[in-house]
Amino acid sequence: MAANHTVTIGGEQVLPGQTKSIDIPLAAMYTHTDVGLTVHVINGKRPGPCLLLTAAVHGDEINGVEIIRQVLGSKQLSKLRGTLLAIPVVNVHGFLNQSRYLPDGRDLNRCFPGSLKGSLAGRVAYTLIDKILCHATHCIDLHTGARHRTNLPQIRTDLSQSETQELALAFGSPVILDAQLREGSLRQAAADRDIPFLLYEAGEALRFDEFSIRAGTRGVINIMRELNMLPRKVRPAKPTTVTIADDSRWVRAPNSGVMRTMVRLGARVKKGTVLAYISDPVGLGQKAVLAPAESIVIGLTNLPLVHEGEALFHLANYSKKIHQVANQVATFHDTFGSSGDEEEPFFIGQDDSLED
Ligand SMILES: [Zn+2]
Repeated sequence: MAANHTVTIGGEQVLPGQTKSIDIPLAAMYTHTDVGLTVHVINGKRPGPCLLLTAAVHGDEINGVEIIRQVLGSKQLSKLRGTLLAIPVVNVHGFLNQSRYLPDGRDLNRCFPGSLKGSLAGRVAYTLIDKILCHATHCIDLHTGARHRTNLPQIRTDLSQSETQELALAFGSPVILDAQLREGSLRQAAADRDIPFLLYEAGEALRFDEFSIRAGTRGVINIMRELNMLPRKVRPAKPTTVTIADDSRWVRAPNSGVMRTMVRLGARVKKGTVLAYISDPVGLGQKAVLAPAESIVIGLTNLPLVHEGEALFHLANYSKKIHQVANQVATFHDTFGSSGDEEEPFFIGQDDSLED
């Protein structure tokens, strides 16, 4: 049986069958404290793909930190083929400041591939690409919604690539969005290197959401099985049917005020369904925010203080198969045990959302 190869990262060798945590130096803090990018390297005895898991590229998006912790704790890794590279906190400076951004105000996910002599964010980006991404054959980047915004677990990827589409389906997330590449994103950097890339978005910044963490952990394990990095189940679960949605859109605040939200994440709404009421905090009048079409709520703001034009509800649209969607929702609930009774669908759609 062929043996796996030795992986060398940051000058450290990880032999087949070895596990190591390697710290790669980043710019120190101005407190004279060192900062390092820590990558966990699990090098299987047998050859296979090299999967890179990244979390907290946006420093305040922390569900992925816990997802990676749980994946690394999985006993199944003893049977690993190939190599797992896991970076629980990419944006260490932002994580420390509980901020999406680096201390220089830059969004790391707009600074790839970065450069050795560039800005702070550019240097972090460069380090990730130059020292770690260069080893990867596949990548999963774990995100959440922004502050005060929560997302139903969803995969965003380029569905025009057949391998990526298969992986997106294998992940098992309730929502799959066909997302265009963003200039300067880690996803763009991976695409430039022909590395299949999934972006998982679930939950809210600065919050742990058990449902999103469980679904994400399972999703990563599913991908490792799909890539034959882990043994497939003897009796695989019934394959999930996926309903294809047409697109998604944000509903924005028609006026400023305080908002009472009337729907929950994952809810199925009809055209004209009241999503929220926005009222003047010192007056009696209120204005309804209506759903523009039959759709599923896949993201929403949790902050009830809104300005005109702010994005409030992210809705996924689909033209048919609504009953099928409802059934798939129930399956997802059974699997991941959400506490609510809202409906959550499996489907594919276009993405025009605010961030990833
Ligand atoms: Zn993010």
